[in-house]
Amino acid sequence: MVQASTNDTLLRQIQSLEYELQQLKEKLKDIQSNCNHTFIEKEGMRKCLKCHLAESTYY
Ligand SMILES: [Zn+2]
Repeated sequence: MVQASTNDTLLRQIQSLEYELQQLKEKLKDIQSNCNHTFIEKEGMRKCLKCHLAESTYY
């Protein structure tokens, strides 16, 4: 069945992308924990210009 194999390929692609995403999230966490943050204040939050780490400043 063409449909089934297409779904299998898609599923494999999704799984591999999810894995990649996980790896990149780990990498990002690593970068952010080593960053010398330069925050810009925004509405209810601040964001680092370098690593894009966002923190809520709204309480
Ligand atoms: Zn940063």
